[in-house]
Amino acid sequence: MQNCIFCKIIAREIPGDIVFEDDSIIAFRDIQPLAPVHVLVVPKEHYRSLDELPSGDLLNAGNILLAIKNVAEQLGVSGGYKVVTNCGEPAGQVVPHLHFHILAGKKFVP
Ligand SMILES: [Zn+2]
Repeated sequence: MQNCIFCKIIAREIPGDIVFEDDSIIAFRDIQPLAPVHVLVVPKEHYRSLDELPSGDLLNAGNILLAIKNVAEQLGVSGGYKVVTNCGEPAGQVVPHLHFHILAGKKFVP
């Protein structure tokens, strides 16, 4: 989607510190980390938030969850991380492209 910062990272129009990528998912470090490990797991298909993910889209939903698990393993934080998604501006969503925060480390702000 035009003017979406995450779609631009996916398209390599702007740089991102990418830690994982497959056909449908990309994960990169948050540029304003709230924790020692703060990675965003993002489906490549543009949905504004979890609310827009089609109810029957088990493939995307499953891929996202498995990507979160794989990224946590890759980052060495399995067994000690938090996953957060903010749905909509009132909930604190800043970028209107569905994404999940992986937060880990001794000191972090939830
Ligand atoms: Zn987007």
